[in-house]
Amino acid sequence: MRIVPSILAKDRHPAGSAQKEDPMETASVDQNECIACESCVEICPQAFRIGDEGKAEFIPEGKGAPCIQEAIDTCPVECISWVK
Ligand code: SF4
Repeated sequence: MRIVPSILAKDRHPAGSAQKEDPMETASVDQNECIACESCVEICPQAFRIGDEGKAEFIPEGKGAPCIQEAIDTCPVECISWVK
């Protein structure tokens, strides 16, 4: 009996099928709702900054930062959400 290496077996999954569940790591700011209070920037500067429009924006390099959820929870207008 021939043993198929597990790495080859994984390749048999259809294209686009997820190998694992991605955790929620990226957030998005609804800039129409943002009041630019800068709370998210103070709490999680790794992931949020005030952009050129004067509203908060997510910093892509901040993906996965552990402070994102706290920033979401403390936004006074609840305009930050996870991107699924
Ligand atoms: S906490 Fe909310 S309202 Fe305040 S700057 Fe961040 S996204 Fe905007």
